[in-house]
Amino acid sequence: MGKVLVIGAGGVSSVVIHKMASLPGVFTEIMLASRTKSKCDAIAARPGNEKVITEQIDADKVPQLRKLIRSFRPDLVVNVALPYQDLHIMDACLAEGVSYLDTANYEPLEEARFEYSWQWAYQERYRNAGITAILGCGFDPGVTSIFTAYAARHHFDEIHYLDIVDCNAGDHGKPFATNFNPEINIREVTQKGRYWEDGKWIHTKPHEIHKPLNYPDIGPKESYLIYHEEIESLVKNFPTIKRARFWMTFGQEYLTHLRVIQNIGMAGIEPVMFNGREIIPIQFLKAVLPDPGELGENYKGQTSIGCRIKGVKDGKQRTYYIYNNCSHEAAYRETGAQGVSYTTGVPAAIGAMMYLNGIWKKPGVFNVEEFDPDPFMEQLNLLGLPWVELHDVDLEL
Ligand code: NDP
Repeated sequence: MGKVLVIGAGGVSSVVIHKMASLPGVFTEIMLASRTKSKCDAIAARPGNEKVITEQIDADKVPQLRKLIRSFRPDLVVNVALPYQDLHIMDACLAEGVSYLDTANYEPLEEARFEYSWQWAYQERYRNAGITAILGCGFDPGVTSIFTAYAARHHFDEIHYLDIVDCNAGDHGKPFATNFNPEINIREVTQKGRYWEDGKWIHTKPHEIHKPLNYPDIGPKESYLIYHEEIESLVKNFPTIKRARFWMTFGQEYLTHLRVIQNIGMAGIEPVMFNGREIIPIQFLKAVLPDPGELGENYKGQTSIGCRIKGVKDGKQRTYYIYNNCSHEAAYRETGAQGVSYTTGVPAAIGAMMYLNGIWKKPGVFNVEEFDPDPFMEQLNLLGLPWVELHDVDLEL
């Protein structure tokens, strides 16, 4: 049990706070701080969240953050702001001797580049300070990495092929919207594709490789190979992997909108002059798109995210598929947020619980697959993200 400081007050945060507040034996005190305090207050005003205290913070300002950490003295800082804030929050935690958890790897504001090098560079300093950094504790990255660690421990002697498959078969009724922060989401899905094979990265054009895959209770959905950050840490932590890929489903309508947005320059991250002031096109676009936190009310259907794995156990070739399906409507009924915020926020709250209970506590910087997966997997079943295992099935990949 202990005190947590949660930073960021968007869709994911609303689920993190809901789950933490429902476990007062674990999360004895909760502070929610973000750039716009009124958003923190709105989350704290929801039923069940009465004990959550709120503060204003610009998490890009390390001295401000340090002051807040010093006054509240949390055991853990949970970063569900944006990837741009990761290093600033890690710096403040290091200076104040407090542990850290996030759900997305650092991304420089001026360049859509996804890699763990910046955060892994803190390894020695966190180890020497005796504090823990838990990286990538959402669903993907997060649960997908823990699924892989669980498979490696219980079902394989060696994992050879890993395909992470992420399907959102939900319908929010809007012509175009993103399921989490639009700026981060569009930067992620418009980049070039990349996967790991035989010890090296293979690069592809954006959305160049795609095929229909069947998802449980959903059916076939066109799935596109994209780069996703957990592949980088998984091939490092499970070196027997010969090939690791990540697939995500997109509808035709979504892709058409995305193409137009890119073609007209609205996905740009370079500043342009508008009415005498500099604006960043993708940030302006975020301001006019639907707020992902508000999509829940009419969202129907479900997500299905999992790992399809091939490898060897006791000298035999085995296949294994482990997944979770999450209903947008059920997520909304429980938390007021849609399924993508739910599938990210629940694992972040469980990761925080693992740390506070001393199960995931060791000095240094770690990706989630480097911790014991079993107690985390148990909590997934208890806290709303149950998982299903299939053995020796056709993986389609
Ligand atoms: P939102 O945009 O809804 O929320 C982000 C929040 O961070 C907002 O409240 C925003 O404040 C706040 N924020 C931004 N900049 C600062 C700053 N400088 N200081 C303090 N607060 C700041 O995003 P989501 O909730 O959709 O996503 C949250 C995180 O979760 C993102 O990092 C995203 O990449 C990650 N994610 C991870 C997934 C996974 O499975 N691993 C899946 C989906 C998301 P304001 O309200 O003022 O804008």
